[in-house]
Amino acid sequence: MSAMAIMDRPTAAPPDPAEDPMPDVATPLVPTETIEVASRVVACDGGDGALGHPRVWLRIVADQVMCPYCSRVYVLAPGAGHDGGH
Ligand SMILES: [Zn+2]
Repeated sequence: MSAMAIMDRPTAAPPDPAEDPMPDVATPLVPTETIEVASRVVACDGGDGALGHPRVWLRIVADQVMCPYCSRVYVLAPGAGHDGGH
């Protein structure tokens, strides 16, 4: 009879769809747009429309940076990025 008691026990927390913060259609790991830039420091405000957000400054450390707001990816153009160097 102990098996029946275990099955009847309620589980920890039933999933509540209303508390899901991230709908399936918005996956932040996929770039919405890739933009080639010639400077390691770029300003992004998301442009017009639904992706608009307060302007933020992004710094390209390696060869690209993704905007945390609109998931645009800024790629450093080949041969660029020497500002502040020689
Ligand atoms: Zn952005």
